[in-house]
Amino acid sequence: MGEKQAGPYEVIIIGGGPAGLTAGLYTSRARLSTLLIENALYGGQMTTTELIENYPGFPQGVTGDELSRLMEEQARRFGMETVAKEVLRVSLEGDTKVVETDNAIYRCETVIVCTGTEYRKLGVPGEREFAGRGVSYCATCDGTFFKDSQIVVVGGGDSALTEALFLTKFVKELTIIHRRDALRGTKIYQERACSNPKIKFLWNSIVQEIKGDSGVRSIVVKNVRTGKIEEFATDGVFLFVGLVPRTQFLRGLLQMDEGGYLLTNEDCETSVKGIFAAGDCRKRLLRQIATAVGDGATAAFTAEKYLEEKE
Ligand code: NAP
Repeated sequence: MGEKQAGPYEVIIIGGGPAGLTAGLYTSRARLSTLLIENALYGGQMTTTELIENYPGFPQGVTGDELSRLMEEQARRFGMETVAKEVLRVSLEGDTKVVETDNAIYRCETVIVCTGTEYRKLGVPGEREFAGRGVSYCATCDGTFFKDSQIVVVGGGDSALTEALFLTKFVKELTIIHRRDALRGTKIYQERACSNPKIKFLWNSIVQEIKGDSGVRSIVVKNVRTGKIEEFATDGVFLFVGLVPRTQFLRGLLQMDEGGYLLTNEDCETSVKGIFAAGDCRKRLLRQIATAVGDGATAAFTAEKYLEEKE
């Protein structure tokens, strides 16, 4: 059986997080034929966030699941099509963009890339071996497995702090291991973490190895100031050492910085005419749901203008 061929669509959106869902809402309301391709859950990283406190309109906060559900429902209301697949390649046939999955080829006039980011791997021995057996990148997914246990959280940014705070609901004790002696995360999360009796800090320290048998049992930690290496018992290791953009499949097509973030102008135009980028996958100062939503609207509007001018 050959590959399915579909299109041409006016717009294909890759990624169904807040940027992609907003772009889809705008392009489908503009009556542009729109296909959104998402390979996992609608909502992106929002789905792994317990409570979102900094998205306007929800004074008491909103759960990540609920905000994802609401954004998806609203985006679908105006006729946007969706398909559950991973995009493997985007290429050009003149002005036409060709978007490929494992079993289908979609043609379109514009693409809006909204692929977001994923958690960076620490790259130490034991990390891959114990992934899913004590090593985790998602507190909301795995927190309940660590009831009454002693765990460590690695990192000093917003992810490490918010996920650590969430994990205190389950664990007996938690140590945040950070490579410096000052946290990077937002002040309010710092205050909450520092005043939480279940949270301890191990400063100026890096994890060198994760050890265990059927699951994680210990970690080897080095103090970067003194050089001292120690082994600590632990039941679990949650890693939040930054994010990497999901743009690998666009290498060679679009300009990106050394970290893989897509280079755009302020109207979300990439280095290729008719391809736009929105949200966390593009190079920008702040990565929040609010900024992703703004990007999604901007990219959709710029795509609409591009299509009008092409006619
Ligand atoms: P991040 O801000 O880049 O922080 C990564 C942390 O990991 C930093 O503390 C960094 O240390 C540390 N780190 C990096 N590489 C390391 C290594 N090899 N070994 C040990 N430690 C390492 O990443 P993030 O916390 O995932 O946040 C990403 C973005 O999402 C941010 O813009 C953040 O504001 C946003 N976010 C927001 C919320 C919220 O508003 N509720 C929640 C989650 C994330 P250094 O500090 O020394 O560089």
